[in-house]
Amino acid sequence: MDTISDFENTESGKSLEAEAGEREPFVVNNLVSEIEASYNGAPLSPETSEILREFEGERTKNRGLGIFSLIEDSKRLEEKIKNLSQKCKDKVQTINPEVPLEEVPLYLLSSPVEKNASALNGEGIAINTRSLVENNKGNEYLENTIVHEATHIFIKRLGKEPDWESNDFKRQVSNFLWFEGLAQYMQPHPEEVERMFKQDAEKWPKILSSWFNTESKEKKAILIENILNMESFKKIMEYRHGQGYENGVKAMLEKSSQDEALTTLIVREGFGYHIGKLLWEQEIQKGNSLKELVMKGSKDIDNWIV
Ligand SMILES: [Zn+2]
Repeated sequence: MDTISDFENTESGKSLEAEAGEREPFVVNNLVSEIEASYNGAPLSPETSEILREFEGERTKNRGLGIFSLIEDSKRLEEKIKNLSQKCKDKVQTINPEVPLEEVPLYLLSSPVEKNASALNGEGIAINTRSLVENNKGNEYLENTIVHEATHIFIKRLGKEPDWESNDFKRQVSNFLWFEGLAQYMQPHPEEVERMFKQDAEKWPKILSSWFNTESKEKKAILIENILNMESFKKIMEYRHGQGYENGVKAMLEKSSQDEALTTLIVREGFGYHIGKLLWEQEIQKGNSLKELVMKGSKDIDNWIV
């Protein structure tokens, strides 16, 4: 057969059978660590350099100018954080100017987990360099993130973190709204989803109040229907999950109890961040001081949702 003889020609007469089982169909040359190291200034071998030049063609970039390995990215991130840190601290300090917000440890990580940041149980701020870079997050996002997580930490230091152990449904939801709503309220820059949320924002406190005041499955079914019919709900879910989001919502409603379904929307789908922020805004607009509200603790929110 032609193909075999062609093969044999290139292999200077070696028989195909002798080679069978020893050869991979594709010979992988993994150049990634060498190329990654070059972004940090290490020299590239002439072969790799040539392959890259051929691959990148006209779009080739001057190595070290404008392209970075994750390590370089993390150094740039570190610099940005240094520039933002006083601003962020001053913002969080407004929660309670009388108690100095002492140093907060901040860890720059690289994790494949799709999570941008965490307050590490109130002990320090973790930021995932990898996901920030992959998702193209800029300065405003970074500033929001630091303020958000530092707010959680300050609340813990002030002894005002809600009791998460409670098994009571209303308590769990209310705690989340108080805790995450405050962190969201403190963020200096509005998020894309917030603009969509605004459209029906006022409806949420009424829905929650009706929910907390009924045990009726029929009434809760109507409330869920009201949520699903909000234009802003549809927009946000489509923004987060694409057009197939409706199937996801259906599956959630089939699987969970009504209370669990509401919790999923509030916690996992993130509506609670925006509802909570709205509740804080409303209380402050009434003339209450941020510090006094915070120092009353999370149970005070029972007076906000009536
Ligand atoms: Zn948070």
